[in-house]
Amino acid sequence: MGDVAQDETSFYSNAEGYWRDVSPTVDGMLGGYGSISNIDINGSKAFLHKFLGEGDGKTGTGCALDCGAGIGRITKRLLLPLFHTVDLVDVTQEFLDKAKTYLEEDSKRVGNYFCSGLQDFVPESGRYDVIWIQWVIGHLTDEHLVDFLRRCQEALRPNGLIIIKDNMSYEGVVPDEVDSSVCRELPIVRSLVSRAGLRIIHEEQQMDFPKEIYQVHTLALR
Ligand code: SAH
Repeated sequence: MGDVAQDETSFYSNAEGYWRDVSPTVDGMLGGYGSISNIDINGSKAFLHKFLGEGDGKTGTGCALDCGAGIGRITKRLLLPLFHTVDLVDVTQEFLDKAKTYLEEDSKRVGNYFCSGLQDFVPESGRYDVIWIQWVIGHLTDEHLVDFLRRCQEALRPNGLIIIKDNMSYEGVVPDEVDSSVCRELPIVRSLVSRAGLRIIHEEQQMDFPKEIYQVHTLALR
């Protein structure tokens, strides 16, 4: 195996190992920042509401996909209240197991729990109104992110949307050796999105997060 392939293999396996040791809680999902979950969810709700509703060009509310869903923090408070059915995909089986109880009664509206890395996952063609990708793009290589976004586009229903909400570095690509991820600057994320053949239709910065964490931006794509 060449060095690049070797590096890529350990980039993914180290991340899997990191998440296997994280507790299946909201605090675990947010690296100890469980307290920002409310602000995050409220910001996402306001963002998404701009696109949902009745009328021409509005995004439907039939089915959503939560990518890198973890225990379903976003599914529980953002997606299940808005969409009839939600599917979850995550590489960590223990988190998906936890989601079944964490989502309580509403778990009966979960369509599928897919245990898979996004780099390998092929979402069903034409199934989703919204594909939500939050705090996980840094775990994919550039190539895999571009390819995954292309597959997501194939998986959208008419007027469907892909949402990326993630940390953006101030400059360049900042590696994180602890969880085996990278943090990219916004212009790099934009260029990967455009390589995937997607258009940014709206973009916002999440306000009111603690000053010491990365800035977080939300991008709506189709
Ligand atoms: N999006 C959720 C969880 C964020 S934590 C939230 O905001 O609450 C990051 C999640 O990504 C973890 O659940 C981890 O298991 C998952 N993950 C890490 N690498 C992944 C990969 N390559 N493919 C899919 N999921 C991955």
